Amino acid sequence: MSADKNILESLNKIDLFSQLFNNMSDLVYVTKVGKDGKFSYVLANEPATSFSGLTTKSFGKPLEEVLPKAVFNIIEAKYKQAIDSGEPITYEDKILVSPSFSSNKPNNKYAPGQLVYWESTITPVCNQNGECTHLLAVVRDITERKERENELKRMNDRFELVWNSAADAMYTFDRHQNFVSVNKSFINLLGWTEEEILNDRTISIIPMNSKEDLKEIINRVKNGEVVPSHEVQRITKHGKLIDVLASYSPIYDGNGNWDGAVAVYKDISERKKYEEQLKHHALHDYLTGMPNRNFFSKMLKEEMIRAEKSKRTLAVFYLDIDKFKVINDTLGHDIGDELLKEFSRRVKACIREKDLLARIGGDEFGILITNLYDKKKSIEIAERILSSFRSNWLIEKHHIRVASSIGISFYSPPYKQDEKLLLKQADIALYKAKEKGRGNYQVY
Ligand code: GH3
Ligand code: MG
Repeated sequence: MSADKNILESLNKIDLFSQLFNNMSDLVYVTKVGKDGKFSYVLANEPATSFSGLTTKSFGKPLEEVLPKAVFNIIEAKYKQAIDSGEPITYEDKILVSPSFSSNKPNNKYAPGQLVYWESTITPVCNQNGECTHLLAVVRDITERKERENELKRMNDRFELVWNSAADAMYTFDRHQNFVSVNKSFINLLGWTEEEILNDRTISIIPMNSKEDLKEIINRVKNGEVVPSHEVQRITKHGKLIDVLASYSPIYDGNGNWDGAVAVYKDISERKKYEEQLKHHALHDYLTGMPNRNFFSKMLKEEMIRAEKSKRTLAVFYLDIDKFKVINDTLGHDIGDELLKEFSRRVKACIREKDLLARIGGDEFGILITNLYDKKKSIEIAERILSSFRSNWLIEKHHIRVASSIGISFYSPPYKQDEKLLLKQADIALYKAKEKGRGNYQVY
């Protein structure tokens, strides 16, 4: 009675095992390794038999008689490899489901001609003598995973294309502000190679005086803010400062925690250069390259404030070339232009670097002399300028006699004039110098 019960229980267990075995989604094959080294199937679950088209007649026969030649060659090689290594081996493979594959069976998920990716694990089963008698092959359909991976790769490729064809320089950094990725435009703009910038933690593209600003930006992105375009300067590999419009957006990890940022730099060096040129043109004379009247007035105002604070004297010279019209009329306007250039060069050579020479009118020049301890010093400068005109003027083969009159006014304690009055006083002194026969200076 109890023996029958045991048999019944065993039968139930076998039945249960058989059901589980045949209902697995993995394909399972048990192969016998013959004494002659030939392989033959001894067992396969339902998914395996239906996929491989095995019938009861297929079992016990050499595998090369059961499987198509191409499939057999692959399987035989893998089986031998597993036997040789004595350990389970895993490999991935893809096959087209045979066009003659019958998909009529219920639950059959494969269609003829479909591409299926497999991951196979082959485990050698050995006896006590260490001889490999059987092989267990478990074959898993990984098509869905592979297709997801392929789609991810396609997305990655597309992203990389966009990333590297963008005209703006872009890079990402982690929460410790280490570079994580840079695009091609970044490499072109900043001059570092990708390898250098990603591996050398000491590289910085932030100028010293921008480090504090960057800290603030990092704090903002850390708090989830997108920092919109703003003008900043960055340093290239070769130490050149470049102007860029920079914007920053936060990046988060899979758990939603802040994990760095992506930065976009638009190169605006050309625009900046143009703006600088415009600014220069607005404040400089096109002919001599000297500051113009606007610049002179602006500097005069600033220097008057400074002089008042430092209790120093400031001198203004007003120069006007003597009888310049005659030169224009006799030698032509072009020679007149060349003379104006030479005139400004000679005067410039007579003053200190920090003093300002400006062309404030046609043949009129202004000089601003700052930080004077002694008014006599400015008289010396006036005499130096006048004597510099006495040496020979050779302008395009013409020997010309050139002189200038100079009017001088001072801004000294107790301060009272405004900048226009100070210039007016120098002009009055200049008029006096002209009256006194030209080629001399007069102090207001
Ligand atoms: P004065 O001794 O009284 O100063 O006599 P002047 O002939 O120099 O007379 P004034 O200073 O009034 O004339 C300045 C001349 O400078 C008038 C103008 O034709 C000339 N001039 C103004 N701008 C330019 C310029 O850019 N190039 C040239 N070649 N001549 C200029
Ligand atoms: Mg003149």
